[in-house]
Amino acid sequence: MKQLAEKVHNASCIVIKIGSALLVDEKTGLVKSNWIESLVKDIAFLKSSGKQVVIVSSGSIAIGRKILGLSSNMIKLEEKQAAAAVGQGKLVQSWAHYLAQHNITAGQILLAPDDTETRRRHLNARATIKTLLDLGVVPVVNENDTVTTYEIRFGDNDRLAARVAGMISADLLILLSDIDGLYSADPARHKNAAHIPDIIQITDEILSMGGSANASFASGGMATKLAAAQIATNAGADMIICDGLSEQPLTLLMNGARASLFHSATEPHTAREKWIAGALDLTGSIKIDDGAVKAIGDGKSLLPAGVTSVSGHFVRGDVISIKNKENYEIARGLSNYSHIEANQLKGRQSASFASIVGFQGRAELIHADDLVMMKLSREDNEPST
Ligand code: GLU
Repeated sequence: MKQLAEKVHNASCIVIKIGSALLVDEKTGLVKSNWIESLVKDIAFLKSSGKQVVIVSSGSIAIGRKILGLSSNMIKLEEKQAAAAVGQGKLVQSWAHYLAQHNITAGQILLAPDDTETRRRHLNARATIKTLLDLGVVPVVNENDTVTTYEIRFGDNDRLAARVAGMISADLLILLSDIDGLYSADPARHKNAAHIPDIIQITDEILSMGGSANASFASGGMATKLAAAQIATNAGADMIICDGLSEQPLTLLMNGARASLFHSATEPHTAREKWIAGALDLTGSIKIDDGAVKAIGDGKSLLPAGVTSVSGHFVRGDVISIKNKENYEIARGLSNYSHIEANQLKGRQSASFASIVGFQGRAELIHADDLVMMKLSREDNEPST
């Protein structure tokens, strides 16, 4: 069996991401009925072979925009949110309708970044999705567009799908796209661009194939797919980018259609580590000295003695970013102290803690179990001040 078919065959939980362009007819603003029917046939086949399937579907804005007569691409955020409010119902109704033809029940899940960032909400969302899966339901996930703002948006469903895959410990994420995978350059502009079938590690060279990071604002570009690949593979899931334009795209994939496979990191992090490494909105950071960099690299805890400065706001239990003296994020972890206490304790030995913060807290600022070393990636890790 070919490698890609084998990945699908061996997966027990698969997240499938579907973009608006594949699902919604641009002219009519309606769901493409033949296409969705064909995809649902594939999904029903996966379900009947005992797999759990989660759909991450875009399309609410494309559908709602047409109904509201907001045709321009330059519509304002509020208008997009209004469009999403109108379109989301229709979108999920379509999925429910076509899945029901195979006696499969659909369940709607709307997520905001906060739901996957804040530990408590993350655990709730995960428990709900897992329960739906155990009940045989196919959850249909989208971003909760009506309540998010630019600052707190996922912004694109590629990354949302990768976070969902990580959240529920899926083994495989499939991004159905209008292209059959990753190319060394944009094949529309470079006729010598080479298709890359197998990506073991997401190196800087691979990242550079995604084009400019700005493209990630126009959701659906290759840059956001590579960002998704980083999130998914770090969370222990393999990721496939394949052509979704034809009908029954998953059958085509299993029959050997060309696609790109990103292999999950060989040592999957524990669920806790995944969550720490994947946190998006970090409100605080600390800078540490070379001795502490070495210590945490050797698997030791981070002691306040090695901290040279503290920035931002955080409370005990928050994920904070750990930077080296060149200001590169090298690790993340759950802080045992608030930013105020961390500031008071930095550079000090633990014997003096009680007299400084008024209680004898933990000796570590971040315990080794709560600390994750970060893989350095260029786009996400620009040195900052
Ligand atoms: N959540 C948006 C929608 O449903 C789409 C975002 C995306 O496609 O990346 O229209």
